[in-house]
Amino acid sequence: MKTALIVVDVQNDFADPSGSLYVPGGEGIATKLAAALDHKGPPGDADLVVATKDWHGDHPGDHFKVWPVHCVASTWGAQFHPAIDAVAGAGQVFYKGALGAAYSGFEGTNPNHESLDAYLKSMDVTDVTVVGLATDYCVKATALDAVRLGYNATLDLDFCAGVAPETTEAAIAEMQASGVSIKRPNIHP
Ligand SMILES: [Zn+2]
Repeated sequence: MKTALIVVDVQNDFADPSGSLYVPGGEGIATKLAAALDHKGPPGDADLVVATKDWHGDHPGDHFKVWPVHCVASTWGAQFHPAIDAVAGAGQVFYKGALGAAYSGFEGTNPNHESLDAYLKSMDVTDVTVVGLATDYCVKATALDAVRLGYNATLDLDFCAGVAPETTEAAIAEMQASGVSIKRPNIHP
């Protein structure tokens, strides 16, 4: 039984204020996550850290009609935010969305063409903690897939940011209803 921290899409286009699809608060999430990984170990006392990347080809179907062009493979926008690059890049990275929209990290594969699910099961992972960007899209899809695939899943809101407040609240409610444990941020006095 092991726990994996899944760091979802903390990439420049989402996490840098000059990114094409900046998620409000995304930069703060990147630096906070980096500090936690450096000093206290992974959130949720995870045994291993994996990361996902939105990684689009030039023509990912209708995806660039729904959203501004973002995370085109091998561009600056698709790189990890510098704060987490060393840690996220050191572990297993799963790439998704080459040919179309791919919100869930479980649609991703590593450079050995192994799926995230296959990799986690090969590492005896039973529990996952999901963090990253954005709560109302890729984080949600990843957490819902985790439950569907049989993992005990926790959403750690300390390390997540959403595109918009209404969709984020709806996403949290949907995840909770689907069996995802919701960890609310610590309230500091
Ligand atoms: Zn995308």
